[in-house]
Amino acid sequence: MPIHKIITAENPILRRKAKKIHRFDPSIQKLADEMFETMHAAHGVGLAAPQIAQSLRIFVAEYEDRKVALVNPEIVKAAGEVLGTEGCLSIPGYIGENIRRAEKVVVKGQDVRGKNIKVNAEGWFARVLQHEIDHLDGILFLDRLDSPEDLREVSEEEELEEETGAAV
Ligand code: ZN
Repeated sequence: MPIHKIITAENPILRRKAKKIHRFDPSIQKLADEMFETMHAAHGVGLAAPQIAQSLRIFVAEYEDRKVALVNPEIVKAAGEVLGTEGCLSIPGYIGENIRRAEKVVVKGQDVRGKNIKVNAEGWFARVLQHEIDHLDGILFLDRLDSPEDLREVSEEEELEEETGAAV
């Protein structure tokens, strides 16, 4: 299975609103498998299709005991507000601090076969899901920084050590 190249922030594909998936043929399962593999190879905890230059509404995320591939996701409930640190596989070498996200979310979408599913998440996993859904709308964490000082350059080692800065 091929590992895809992850594109970075200057690529305009990351700024597009990704297209909804209507046909659930085996290519969607294959795409999800390849996205998981690409994400693992990059030591990330989330990856959205636009990051591998596919402008489609699908992302994968995996953290501790949670693993999800979600198609056409939509946040249907959001509660609370927390500030936190985020990294992005498409913005290597930097992390964003004090990024505001909902503390808990309920996300509705479809699995790779088109079956409706609902995902409940809180804390770090909720942050990952919100970050990935942003990617499908052409939004990067850079757009959510309150101040330019919240963008911090990090060394590769630091990036991997800092759990809450894990790239998504
Ligand atoms: Zn990202």
